[in-house]
Amino acid sequence: MRAIGFYEHGGPEVIQILDIPQPTPAPDEVLIRVHYAALNRLDDWVRRGWPGLNLAMPHVLGSDMAGEIVALGSHVRGWNVGARVVANPGIWCTRCEWCERGEHSLCVNYGLLGEHFPGVYAEYVTIPERNLVRVPEGFPLEKAAAAPLVYLTAWRMLFTRAGLRPGERVLVVGAGGGVNSAAIQLAKMAGAVVYVAAGGPEKVRYARDLGADVVYDYRTEEWWKAVYRDTGKRGVDVVVDNVGEATFPHSLRALARGGRLVTVGATTGPRSGADIRLIFWKQISIIGSTMGSQSEFRAAMQAVFRGQVDPPIDSIWPMEAYPEALARMIKGEHMGKIVLEIAA
Ligand SMILES: [Zn+2]
Repeated sequence: MRAIGFYEHGGPEVIQILDIPQPTPAPDEVLIRVHYAALNRLDDWVRRGWPGLNLAMPHVLGSDMAGEIVALGSHVRGWNVGARVVANPGIWCTRCEWCERGEHSLCVNYGLLGEHFPGVYAEYVTIPERNLVRVPEGFPLEKAAAAPLVYLTAWRMLFTRAGLRPGERVLVVGAGGGVNSAAIQLAKMAGAVVYVAAGGPEKVRYARDLGADVVYDYRTEEWWKAVYRDTGKRGVDVVVDNVGEATFPHSLRALARGGRLVTVGATTGPRSGADIRLIFWKQISIIGSTMGSQSEFRAAMQAVFRGQVDPPIDSIWPMEAYPEALARMIKGEHMGKIVLEIAA
């Protein structure tokens, strides 16, 4: 079968269309024919690699997909061949202390499809039954494929970790990335007032289209001062900051007393430069989050399937055009998810 991956880490030039054997499902897995898959920033990091990442080669990329079950492992119950499904991209061990609590993304053996485990940019993939959620009749598979990683991440980050409540004010720093787009939609769904700092007029318009109430262009405006001004010198209850080093000190300033800063990433660098005096004086909570549990995945996907949120799709590409699709993502030109058609 065909798959997208690489034999060695490096730049985009190491990517190949692989010809590898079709996998066989383990007793607790199903075999899925992948119809659509979606790109994530993670693809780029995994391909470049990092110290201690020891992948079996060739490595197949991809974390998000939607497809159809074509075979069942011997212990699988409650699923049938032909069912349309999406999968939680997280793999957890089921046995550790955190798995016992249902905190799957805290699992000591946690990893992701396409990261520590073979990915989904393949004509067929095997996935544990416990990761699946059914896609309702009539719901487009390309839209289902665009949702899992970013809506799961944004759901846990906003609701479970930051405890966002209706009527609260939330500031999302950056609008282009998939997690931030999902966060804007989910925060609106939950009845929050949503402020966004976006880069450039197109991203400003995009953030408004996603439902943001107030949008600042960070190229021309000091958004942390604008937020302070526009909230009557109060600040916001929650800041979502996945930008990291470049914005963290400003995000702390934009928070109200007793506010929460939640982070699931640090695209500009890992050092916070936080003024600790601000943290204790304003009694700020700094909260980390990553991915989520299967119950959070189910909840996030139900919001997608009910149409309470609508995963934006930037473009759909054939499998062979992955290098061009990746180049578009790396340049940051996209608005919404970049989707691959594997087998429609
Ligand atoms: Zn575990």
